[in-house]
Amino acid sequence: MPHSNRSYLTALGIPSWRRRGLAPSAGQTSDDPLLAGEQTPSLSNREERKPNSPSITDSQAPDAALLRIKAAVERCTRCDLHRTRNRTVFGVGGVEAHCMLIGEAPGAEEDRQGEPFVGRAGKLLDAMLNAIGFRRDQVYIANMIKCRPPGNRDPQDIEIRSCADYLAQQIDEISPRMLVAVGRIAAQRLLSTTEPMGRLRGRIHRHEPTGLPLLVMYHPAYLLRRPREKGKAWQDLLMLHSTLEGSASPDLS
Ligand code: SF4
Repeated sequence: MPHSNRSYLTALGIPSWRRRGLAPSAGQTSDDPLLAGEQTPSLSNREERKPNSPSITDSQAPDAALLRIKAAVERCTRCDLHRTRNRTVFGVGGVEAHCMLIGEAPGAEEDRQGEPFVGRAGKLLDAMLNAIGFRRDQVYIANMIKCRPPGNRDPQDIEIRSCADYLAQQIDEISPRMLVAVGRIAAQRLLSTTEPMGRLRGRIHRHEPTGLPLLVMYHPAYLLRRPREKGKAWQDLLMLHSTLEGSASPDLS
């Protein structure tokens, strides 16, 4: 069986996608049910990526401009979500990251902790990133809107429009090589489309405002509910990896 197929099948049936030999990220242990096991598929014959690979950045030093934007978000009252939030959820990661992941909005746990993609879904996202050789702090992770919609409802147009400028400023400051829309709502909003996920994932789009390549990925919370879709998510991760590595020229649609 070709190695890529074996890896694909392995990814379908296992709870962990961490690459063999890759050290757990800070705070993660091999006891973590999402990270346990050695069944992780290998990406290719290329050399194993080390956490300090020169093709990715370790920079976490807060950028002064980002701190100014973050402070503005913390004071923001542009939309009604400021009335119900506990904390604003700005973004985390390397300020010189090549890859910026953008979700929809903070959930309850994010609202409590002030950080995007925490809890079970966050752990799965970390495991997915680990699988292609990235630690959480080697990408940048943010949401389209910075305050939690009550009851985890979908964000409203007015809220997304009100918050759009903060996201645009973040992208400008991080200046990533590519964007990843995490989940259907982020994908449809960032691409200004109503196409379903099934037609959006699996190819590289162009993010019109910035011209950056954009990949669509299932939301980890969705994958926790629908583990059978992990195989497709794995294919998307491989596409992300190869695009970032430059081994696949983005065929922008
Ligand atoms: S969601 Fe965005 S626009 Fe609305 S209050 Fe929060 S930071 Fe401001």
